Amino acid sequence: MDTAVPTAKLTPGSVALLGLPWDAMSTHMRGPAEAPSAIREALHGGSANLWSERGRDLGEHPRFVDMGDVKLPEDVAALDAISEAVQSVLSRGAKPLVLGGDHAVTLGVLRAVAQRWSPLTVLHVDAHPDLYASYEGNPFSHACPFARALEEGLVSRLVQVGIRTLNGHQREQVERFGVEVIEAHAFDPNEQLGLVGPVYVSIDLDGLDPAFAPGVSHHEPGGLSTRDVLRLLNQLPKSVVGADVVELNPRRDLHGMTAMVAAKLAKELACRLLDERDPLSSAP
Ligand code: MN
Ligand code: MN
Repeated sequence: MDTAVPTAKLTPGSVALLGLPWDAMSTHMRGPAEAPSAIREALHGGSANLWSERGRDLGEHPRFVDMGDVKLPEDVAALDAISEAVQSVLSRGAKPLVLGGDHAVTLGVLRAVAQRWSPLTVLHVDAHPDLYASYEGNPFSHACPFARALEEGLVSRLVQVGIRTLNGHQREQVERFGVEVIEAHAFDPNEQLGLVGPVYVSIDLDGLDPAFAPGVSHHEPGGLSTRDVLRLLNQLPKSVVGADVVELNPRRDLHGMTAMVAAKLAKELACRLLDERDPLSSAP
């Protein structure tokens, strides 16, 4: 299968929007494969402009490049195709902004990003820690990507925010891997996370409360607000090297509300990615 993505338009410091329409590793229901097109529709639907809250116009920005979707096989070989696509973005000096897909895509992305940027810090927003050693017999389930990433040494610091589904096994995994977990019940939007060096951001939309983001496969009440997540993005250092927004399920969405939340977060992430500073600098 040809998985090459056209990188000709990318220049150093570009942000490459990359759709990964893959939900084969979802455990509960399918649908996130339809997310990239739903998010693009929300971005360009005409009900909002393409300006970020901090005053950047992505509509006019020469370094914001939509690469389209990557063609992916149904099976786990998709992870290699994802890594390859992200590698080709990174090889041009650009930064990936990934639209999932379910959360399983993040392992493929991190395999490529960690080759370029190490040690890598990951900020992970989610209702679930996604740390299962294996789920329903599948080690590549969307319930497992961060266990794999930590075992493979791709991530040196993992900070999870919004978690509210820890069970005994996953608490053991948190201890085993030294994950920093800020559970939803203890979340303080003003807490400074002190993220430095190359930072990758992974946003599972079910980290938000279903009231804000109903279009996800796993409704988990008691989550973050859209503004909480935007505040987290505002405190990111300028050394953000890549990001993903995953787990939108358009089949569960109401009037495209969650697609709009995903588009908003993607827009703000794009602006953080465009604000460059040396990722290896320790300054925030
Ligand atoms: Mn997740
Ligand atoms: Mn989740």
